[in-house]
Amino acid sequence: MLRYKIEKILKEKKLSLTKSRKKVLKFFIKSSKPLSLNQIRLFVGKMDRVTLFRVLNIFESKQIVHKIRLENGKTLYALCKEECEGDNHNHNHIHFQCENCNDVSCLTIENFPVLKIPNYTLNNIDINVTGLCINCN
Ligand SMILES: [Zn+2]
Ligand SMILES: [Zn+2]
Ligand SMILES: [Zn+2]
Repeated sequence: MLRYKIEKILKEKKLSLTKSRKKVLKFFIKSSKPLSLNQIRLFVGKMDRVTLFRVLNIFESKQIVHKIRLENGKTLYALCKEECEGDNHNHNHIHFQCENCNDVSCLTIENFPVLKIPNYTLNNIDINVTGLCINCN
């Protein structure tokens, strides 16, 4: 099932099914949580840095994953949902970090703000929220 899902995503994004792509994508699907570069590297094992960065970059440009930039400068990668199609990522969700357990998640919110500024093109709205997660609350 998992393998079928991985191949389906790669095919839909018109990416060839390389070993490294399948391996990285497998980890994202299995863990279903935002992942740090270190976590990904631990999982993929022997893959060299350049290959891994290449896989992550192409996944980002193909709307398979998106970056989460945390306040402390750390970057996480999270799997995109179906709405990320076409030319842009379309994330109508916030990034939440728990102050107690440091858990980070992508959370869908109702009434995601629509921002408009005359003469500006706004492509991307990042909302980072901190507080207490469902387990710590
Ligand atoms: Zn996306
Ligand atoms: Zn927590
Ligand atoms: Zn997200």
